[in-house]
Amino acid sequence: MSTMVIDGKPASARSGATLEIHDPATGELVDTVPQAGVEETRQAIDAAHAAFRGWADTPPQKRAQILMKGAGLARQHIDEVASLLTREQGKPLRDSKIEAERFVENIEYYAMLSASGAIRGKHVQLSVPGAFGLVVRRPIGVVGAIIPWNFPLTLLANKIAPALAMGNTVVAKPASTTPLSTIRLVELMNQGGLPPGVLNVVVGPGAVVGQEMIKNPKVRKIGFTGETQTGKQVMAEAASDLKHVTLELGGSDPAIVCDDADIEQASKAIAIGRFFNAGQACLAVKRVFVHEAVFDQVIEKVAARAKRLKVLPGADPSSQMGPMHTAGGRETIEGQLKDALDRGARLLAGGNRLKGEPFDRGYFFEPTVITEVPPDARVWREETFGPLLPIARVKSLDEAIERANDSEFGLGSSVFTRDIKKAQQTIDRLDVGYAWINQVNLVAYDELPFGGTKHSGFGKEHGIEVLDFYTEEKSVVMGGV
Ligand code: NAD
Repeated sequence: MSTMVIDGKPASARSGATLEIHDPATGELVDTVPQAGVEETRQAIDAAHAAFRGWADTPPQKRAQILMKGAGLARQHIDEVASLLTREQGKPLRDSKIEAERFVENIEYYAMLSASGAIRGKHVQLSVPGAFGLVVRRPIGVVGAIIPWNFPLTLLANKIAPALAMGNTVVAKPASTTPLSTIRLVELMNQGGLPPGVLNVVVGPGAVVGQEMIKNPKVRKIGFTGETQTGKQVMAEAASDLKHVTLELGGSDPAIVCDDADIEQASKAIAIGRFFNAGQACLAVKRVFVHEAVFDQVIEKVAARAKRLKVLPGADPSSQMGPMHTAGGRETIEGQLKDALDRGARLLAGGNRLKGEPFDRGYFFEPTVITEVPPDARVWREETFGPLLPIARVKSLDEAIERANDSEFGLGSSVFTRDIKKAQQTIDRLDVGYAWINQVNLVAYDELPFGGTKHSGFGKEHGIEVLDFYTEEKSVVMGGV
């Protein structure tokens, strides 16, 4: 049985409650973990609170050394962590490995920033003679990191790497279905020499563990990634204690294919962008708008790619797409597909559960492409969190942009065109937080700030801009009258 990590030590739940972690490809029991209640969550918060002053006062170069050592240990265990991630989450082993490597790189990136003196404030000239002002950056305090199940490791790193590098302490809460790889990484980071209490992990329901993290006054910042509905609740509740919040929420990213696009490149990128992680990505391509001049070619190529994808359990080395993570997630996708078909949509690829061996015990669903979907269908309004792709024909770029913006979400987007001016003008008009030209979300760049607009949330992860979200500024005046 895996255990939680509280105050640098393995921890179980006093109630003895446990959670079973099952493999979404086979239904097999992978492991059990203790299920924390309010008591264990408070213990973790208290430990992080007690550790804060010492960690905040540790020189940034020393913090960086410790983080680098933990990252090095994690790198030595990439295969073990990736295997755990595939078994609990379902994604292909190759993708789990990339994700575990991205965790390490993200920790290293912020450790290097910390060591390089990048965590800096400023000197400000003041109007009073003899006085000068400083803006000093200080860590915020205890950070609660609340993480979903779709990319447990990269989304963990996005929070703990900047938080720890800048001198905060952390209580991390993975989703109840994907705690194993997170626990292992937290163990390894602790073995790297983090003082006890600096990085803790507790496992349990959002309604109990997450709520305690949001309401406990010792937690000063919540870094949350998850559904828009949950994010709204988190924000409302964090407001009563005036906590800092970063909210990385749902998305319904549009891809626009112009009449002059490289059709092959666009079709390939769109298929990868939609079906990666079985479509369960915030930044997946979820709506496609194609100029009528190239529409027939694009739908034919995307549908052909969907049909060619090797859907297999993630542990199979030739798997390109694994099962969906939960039965409920698959049912939601089936409901959204049925709604579209009932309204007259045309099915171009997929549309069914996979049957027979090795599929019957898992939550597999075919990569699915539809077109001629009426504008009032659910797939245009809701987030489609699975392998379902609607493609619409548009008459002009203006129409494509208008439809792309007609969404409550504003996370990512992409545009395919050979005309750089057209690309710039399109990107400029899209209400989103991230945009790709002639590609989709294949690499999350550590160097570039990432975050959404509208109901996709606010605040940034990645980039040096994260300094603003994991430190507070204090103004200091010296001299003068
Ligand atoms: P979710 O909102 O159900 O859960 C996310 C986390 O919040 C989990 O750890 C959960 O236990 C916790 N939680 C749930 N209810 C809570 C509550 N009342 N109080 C405190 N914590 C609570 O989301 P999910 O289904 O796990 O994740 C999928 C969603 O995440 C999708 O909408 C996806 O687009 C979004 N997402 C966004 C980004 C991004 O960077 N914008 C990245 C990945 C996923």
